[in-house]
Amino acid sequence: MNSVLLFFLVLLLQDGFAKDIGVFWQVTDFHYDVNYSSTGDPNNMCHQDDVTFNATGSYGNYLCDSPWQLISSAIEAMYKIKPDPDFIIWTGDSVPHVPESDLDLDKVYTLIGNITDEIIRVFPNTSLFPVLGNHDPFPSNQMPYDVENNRYYKDILNVSNWNIVLRANESKQFQHGGYYSSQISKKFRLIGLNTNLYYDQDKLTRDLDDPANQFAWLKDELEGARKRQEAVYIIAHVPPGSFELGTGLGWFYDKYNRRYLDLLEEYSDVIMAQMYGHEHTDSFRVQLDAEGKPINTLFLCPAVTPWKSSLPGVGANNPSVRLYKYDRDTAIPQSYTQYYLNLTRANLKGNADNWEKEYDTSDVYAIDQLTPTALHGLARGFGDKSNKVFLSYLEFNSVMWDTSHECNDTCFIHHYCAITQLDYGQFNACLAGDGRLTTISPTDTTRHHSRRPTVPAQVPSYLYYVMGGLAVLLFVLFLVVAVMCFRRGNFRSFRVPKYSKFGSLSVNS
Ligand SMILES: [Zn+2]
Ligand SMILES: [Zn+2]
Repeated sequence: MNSVLLFFLVLLLQDGFAKDIGVFWQVTDFHYDVNYSSTGDPNNMCHQDDVTFNATGSYGNYLCDSPWQLISSAIEAMYKIKPDPDFIIWTGDSVPHVPESDLDLDKVYTLIGNITDEIIRVFPNTSLFPVLGNHDPFPSNQMPYDVENNRYYKDILNVSNWNIVLRANESKQFQHGGYYSSQISKKFRLIGLNTNLYYDQDKLTRDLDDPANQFAWLKDELEGARKRQEAVYIIAHVPPGSFELGTGLGWFYDKYNRRYLDLLEEYSDVIMAQMYGHEHTDSFRVQLDAEGKPINTLFLCPAVTPWKSSLPGVGANNPSVRLYKYDRDTAIPQSYTQYYLNLTRANLKGNADNWEKEYDTSDVYAIDQLTPTALHGLARGFGDKSNKVFLSYLEFNSVMWDTSHECNDTCFIHHYCAITQLDYGQFNACLAGDGRLTTISPTDTTRHHSRRPTVPAQVPSYLYYVMGGLAVLLFVLFLVVAVMCFRRGNFRSFRVPKYSKFGSLSVNS
């Protein structure tokens, strides 16, 4: 009988206390170009010159950054698909890839402010959490670190209207380097970082130890979160690790990459997920500890801008936005759905009504929850390049811009090593071959969450059904034997074992 009771208890725990699922949007890399013209020159960022072009497109062009029509259609599509998310994260890069002579700081503030105002207009009642991208300072990539003598962060708050979307204490923190921490609910915190300070194109921060004091602050924040037993999301623009395309270049200066990864590892028990932009491609990263155990997941969301990168071997992408589902109690991401606009079709039709679902991780990747263990399992499957899921991932990587499935050994190994090896030394070892062998080998898939009591152990759901089936079988057997004994008139001979809680009630009646 105890097994039957256990079965119903398990059912109660599963269904009676069903997960409290919330959703949130991520949108990134708008790269708004006010000089985009639908009759402009595609080989000159679609800017209007003496010659008029006919097929440049009203909603954008794969060789150019975003016109306003594309930006507003993306935000409108988000509202149409999910008008009441818990919050929206916006991971930077609003300024276009144009020569410095076309820009100045006032133009930069205005561009960012225009997009801020549009998101607020469409989602007036939704919390918005923005972070800066490497294109958002002026000159681009040069993020101010001497915050006491620079008005940049204050101007982003006051001129680009981020003081409207951030709370007073978050704005106050933001002034000191473009980072902040926000309590979303009693046990859930979001930390917005300025990882552009670590970007290896930033000449201002190359020789520093802790630009804008962000490392020290982040450690304090994570320590505080651990003490308060809060789950944390980190959002930022530039991710650590290496690019999965082209020559596999790393983004951070080596010293900052190592230090950042060490912090992520030290606090992997409180960090439930990280969301980044910058690459414009759709990918993810799994951080492994020294023993090869998966400890952190990093989501890389594709861009709104379709712009074909100037980096060798890197192409364009269709405009895209992402909707995540997460467990409000544990903050563990459950899945995400990628939505996109087929730019060619939108330009032909002359409207952008057809923002559509590209894929859902729970369908194509067949994963229940987006945990480090689950995503590492997925990445290990990528060890075989004929794997159908890997071929799907390849299509998603460019948001269906390139559906050729062409990926030679160099391409394949770059994807695989970038996803699983965030440290530059290990990434290079993986490319050389030996690191790859260690990542493919079976690992203990337990996540380091022992200090976090709200995160349940991950039991595969089918086990509940197996247990339930066995319990029902036992119960039926018990009934059959009981009925047979009763019919033979020797019911009293059917004795419940002494150790049963119900022994005295059954036997002595
Ligand atoms: Zn960027
Ligand atoms: Zn960008």
